[in-house]
Amino acid sequence: MSVALFTLGGTISVAGATNRLTGAELTAAVPGLAELGLPLEVQDVEAVSSGNLTLARMLDVVDAASKAVGAGASGVVVTQGTDTLEETAFLVDQVWPHPHPFVLTGAMRNPTLAGPDGPANLLGAARVACSPAARDLGALVVFNDQIHAARWVRKTHSTSTATFASPNAGPIGHLVEDQVRILARPARQDGVPGRAEAGDLDAARVALYTVTLDDDGLLLEGLADTHQGLVVAGYGVGHVPAALAPVLGALAERIPVVLTSRTGGGSVLRSTYKTAGSESDLLARGLIDGGFLDPYKARVLLRLLLATGEGRDEISAAFAQHH
Ligand code: ASP
Repeated sequence: MSVALFTLGGTISVAGATNRLTGAELTAAVPGLAELGLPLEVQDVEAVSSGNLTLARMLDVVDAASKAVGAGASGVVVTQGTDTLEETAFLVDQVWPHPHPFVLTGAMRNPTLAGPDGPANLLGAARVACSPAARDLGALVVFNDQIHAARWVRKTHSTSTATFASPNAGPIGHLVEDQVRILARPARQDGVPGRAEAGDLDAARVALYTVTLDDDGLLLEGLADTHQGLVVAGYGVGHVPAALAPVLGALAERIPVVLTSRTGGGSVLRSTYKTAGSESDLLARGLIDGGFLDPYKARVLLRLLLATGEGRDEISAAFAQHH
């Protein structure tokens, strides 16, 4: 038995202007890892900042991780940059078919700084990856001694080591001394069926449009000619200026348009407000209810669904799991 560790760069591995720590160097700097009882099988994938990752690249990592658990690994750890970690974790959660824990982590303070958090995060992630208690929970983010479900986790602060939080649900578990304590076991959701290929992902362009005060909507013009889907990050419970409602309705006749909230917590509503540009108006015009999904995760999900050829009904059903 072992834990499969895949490294993808990010602050956790930054050791100077250009120097990047390898997985072997990363693990050598972690006190307590040797006492874990299971060896780490390290694969250095690519030392890039997380803003340069792609969905296709992450699906390749998931394939490699699948092979590793098929060969006997009890769980998987991925280290990467934190900037897009909430999106990659959600992507993995949609496609990970195994009961084995798939844990993502990183660091906010690089190894050259006083008090780097990478070693503790990596140790915590490895503990969770080999814990029977963490099986059947899909993809998890382990950070700052907390365990977050991929479907809820957000990066909430630009510099704090406590940046990862789950505003709608809280962490589902904690690392306490050397123990993995799971407090809540959310049922796994249906993932996206089929394997999206890189070319299909490239062809599934999904725009993210955040509505702002006094918004003229100019950027939305002609969007259905260049994009296959759209996520709207609306005000509050899912509102837009009245003038944008028919524009979004016309787009929704041509491409899937998902309604989410730009607030960072809570769900969009369905039937509380009735005015033009309100949630019920937009849903009546054919927008898809994004529920509790934040705009970034909604964009990942819509892109995956489009890339695997899912139709309007399947797309609505996939988002309905997040209501
Ligand atoms: N810019 C870095 C990245 O996401 C930040 C980090 O690792 O925390 O790759």
